[in-house]
Amino acid sequence: MEDWQSADLCVINTCSVTAEADKDALRLIRRIAARNARARLVVTGCLAEHDAGALAKAAPKATIVGNRGKDGLAVLLGLGPAGAPGGRVTRWHGRSRALVKVQDGCDGACSYCVVPQVRGVLSSKPLEALVEEVSGLVAGGHAEIVLCGVRLGRYEGEAGGAAADLAAALERLARLDGDFRLRLSSLEVAELSDRLLDAAAGSGGRVCPSFHLPLQSGSEAVLRRMKRPYAAERFARRLEALRRRLPGAGVFTDIMAGFPGETESEFEESLAFVRGLRLSGLHVFRYSRRRGTAAASMPGQVPAAAAVERAVRLRELDRELRSAFAAAAVGSVRRVVATGDPRSQDCEALAEDFLPVVLDRSPGPGIHRARVVSSDGPSARGVVG
Ligand code: SF4
Repeated sequence: MEDWQSADLCVINTCSVTAEADKDALRLIRRIAARNARARLVVTGCLAEHDAGALAKAAPKATIVGNRGKDGLAVLLGLGPAGAPGGRVTRWHGRSRALVKVQDGCDGACSYCVVPQVRGVLSSKPLEALVEEVSGLVAGGHAEIVLCGVRLGRYEGEAGGAAADLAAALERLARLDGDFRLRLSSLEVAELSDRLLDAAAGSGGRVCPSFHLPLQSGSEAVLRRMKRPYAAERFARRLEALRRRLPGAGVFTDIMAGFPGETESEFEESLAFVRGLRLSGLHVFRYSRRRGTAAASMPGQVPAAAAVERAVRLRELDRELRSAFAAAAVGSVRRVVATGDPRSQDCEALAEDFLPVVLDRSPGPGIHRARVVSSDGPSARGVVG
């Protein structure tokens, strides 16, 4: 976050997916309230929805706006007309990669998750509005467009009176003019349909071959207690379908350590299962007890020390996987996009399969070819051109 100490207005969009996220948001809000007391402070997002009381205590003068009031923020602040739900973003200042929120809300019932309570019902950006937003961002020089949603795979935009699912949206967006590529953010494996894979595989490289498919646990019993809508074995089968259509795709997952009742043997089962999937990397989380969720009152809450120890073992596996992913890329030519400000001298970039590559020189705006020349642990080095 830039210049908050001198800003007239600070709008903080909070996350509440874990207790850690709550703490980070509260820490930042307290700092702003203490060090820039003259700024108008507005706090929105999931923590504003989940625990407005904690925010009011941290910054009594802040204006708190829940997720349901976000679309009216511009009016509230006297900055413009009311936005349509999920209004249009025209520019991501100093970024090559632009995020486009295409979907919000979840109707899932995962027993650990607070998201359905704070994000409300499923809603999607109409396809024409999405096309317009992506076209504008591409015309503004963004080389990578990341399509995001709480349940991205449940996207259902309406186009000309007919429903358009995520596969239809990808096919439409992939045909737009310009030097850009599309990337999908996190997707539930149950929503990784053959149609979607075909749309990605048939896009001529426009859709990046990288997927984030949250697994959470590789233990069947834990998955059942989590109320995840799949069995581990189904996850593996869909992964095989993905690899048949998009060989070489980068595939990442979320894994949780210390879900209530997770025994040592369930953890070992999960670890062995995840290892067998040959993924490109893991995002490891410790279970976080969220008020109002079914898991919060489950018996067998795992002691913190055991959860930490399991997370450490998962992170070791993550490092191993990312190192193998980087090593396997050595000698290949990748299409890279700068991850920071393309006008700066920043040499950090991202390949199409989500491999981070440190380049010999700043690639500048756009998509560039780079030869991967070496790897050092999870990090790859490349030469532009
Ligand atoms: S699918 Fe499950 S984990 Fe994902 S947001 Fe919905 S309830 Fe939460």
